[in-house]
Amino acid sequence: MEISVIKTRLTLAQVLHYYHLKPDKNLRLCCPFHDDKTPSLQLYYKTHTAYCFSSNCKTHGKSMDVIDFIMNKENCTKHEALKKATEMITGEGLKAAPPADRLTTLHKIFTYFKNGVVNSQPAKAYIQKRHLNTDAIDIGFNSGQFHYKQNDAAEAMQEYLNIGLLLELGVMSRFGKPAYKPFGKHCIVFALRDQESEW
Ligand SMILES: [Zn+2]
Repeated sequence: MEISVIKTRLTLAQVLHYYHLKPDKNLRLCCPFHDDKTPSLQLYYKTHTAYCFSSNCKTHGKSMDVIDFIMNKENCTKHEALKKATEMITGEGLKAAPPADRLTTLHKIFTYFKNGVVNSQPAKAYIQKRHLNTDAIDIGFNSGQFHYKQNDAAEAMQEYLNIGLLLELGVMSRFGKPAYKPFGKHCIVFALRDQESEW
């Protein structure tokens, strides 16, 4: 898989999940790349990068993308890291979700987002204001509620986390369950497709 494709498909959350690394509520981790007593590694889920603030760290001074993260974690070459990243995406021999499930979930969720436009007056008004043609392009609206009404909860939630539709906040909600931050809440969303019109 090409590096540009990997970077659009592999989220930092997926990489952390793969290595069983759980950030705190400020999205910080005890850095796995040096002997770290207090969390020095800051994660940036928007850019899918990480930065270690400790000057004792071999990675200090350099922002890491998902590939750099894997390289440092595995102590491997870039080539090997790309192979590993591809495995994480395709789920080959790993507990990560197989691609079929990923596609099914993305299809399902984007259909839900598209219905979100129909059900939201502000979203419709905004799309019109921006002169976006809903006949020509697929546009969705995320009301940020998609993870609330899951009956098949646990599995679907894990899938949302794997894909990056949900981010774990590391805190408990008032219902005593883990709290999540949904991707693109109250935003207009577009589906990015690859050459085969896949997701
Ligand atoms: Zn470090």
